[in-house]
Amino acid sequence: MKQATKKLLTTGLLALTATPLLAEVNIYSSRQEGLIKPLLDKFTEQTGIEVNLVSGKDDALITRLSTEGKRSPADLLITADAGRLYRAKEANVLQPLKSDVVDAKVPANLRDSDDFWTGLTMRARPIFYVKGNVTEDELSTYEALTDAHWKGRICIRSSSNIYNQSLIASMIDANGENASEEFAKGLVANMARPPSGGDTDQLKAAAAGLCDIAIANTYYYGRLVNSDSAADNEVAAKLGVFWPNQGDRGTHVNVSGIAITKASKNVEESKQLIEFMLSTESQQWYSEVNNEYPVVAGVDASNALTNLGEFKADAVNLTVLGVNNEAAVKLMDRAGWK
Ligand code: FE
Repeated sequence: MKQATKKLLTTGLLALTATPLLAEVNIYSSRQEGLIKPLLDKFTEQTGIEVNLVSGKDDALITRLSTEGKRSPADLLITADAGRLYRAKEANVLQPLKSDVVDAKVPANLRDSDDFWTGLTMRARPIFYVKGNVTEDELSTYEALTDAHWKGRICIRSSSNIYNQSLIASMIDANGENASEEFAKGLVANMARPPSGGDTDQLKAAAAGLCDIAIANTYYYGRLVNSDSAADNEVAAKLGVFWPNQGDRGTHVNVSGIAITKASKNVEESKQLIEFMLSTESQQWYSEVNNEYPVVAGVDASNALTNLGEFKADAVNLTVLGVNNEAAVKLMDRAGWK
């Protein structure tokens, strides 16, 4: 090697060791950037840890982690629905999360039973009804929606959607597979139309007179309430919320969650970020910005959520939703749920 190059290399190396290595975490996330970026910026501001965010579709991110294996640059996976977090755990792309802060702050049923992920925010999937067409005393449980009374009156999205798969998975846990299949058949028989669109579309369809009942996650309703569009506000105003199954297991809930990847090279920094996301400030921010329930007890939910009233949530460990996912998908298919 020429003397000059050698000298340059040595100087370069010296310079590198002299500068402290920049701490960073790399996130694969399926959340809308607006629902997470401001929080990550605040984390960087407070800790000096740089955060790189890669956004993508849920299942595609899990596939990407699998394909990349040990070489994956990702430290953290953020995605919605316990069913999907379970898929990531089963795909062997996560590592157990050991954090006393997480254990102390997040109720055990909102975390993986083997600590592979923790919930960050909670959402419920209640029944929305058209005021004037339906009164609360006509409603009771999810199961009762199969009554002939509701024939042609129910809007709900496709069975290919994980939120519905998780709802049925929770029902399998409570009532068994046979009863859940009967439920799915009865629900299909009462649908106002073949499933189409997302949760917001079901709420809009109900408000437009296409159906009297819509099943949707709470934050979609919250978005309509807080929307700048008067038309959205009107949709929300036409609908009431009903919390089903208050006399037994409670209303179905789910989470958006976070996990440390198996390939992570920044486990400590990743843990710090998870704990930051569980701070009162972050939990409140999430609730205000996306109308999701805090997973940490004692943190206030947004006004839009508080106005929906209190309810008893199904306390089943959400790991069950992943375990029962395959059975749920199969029975929904047999029931003809498109
Ligand atoms: Fe969603």
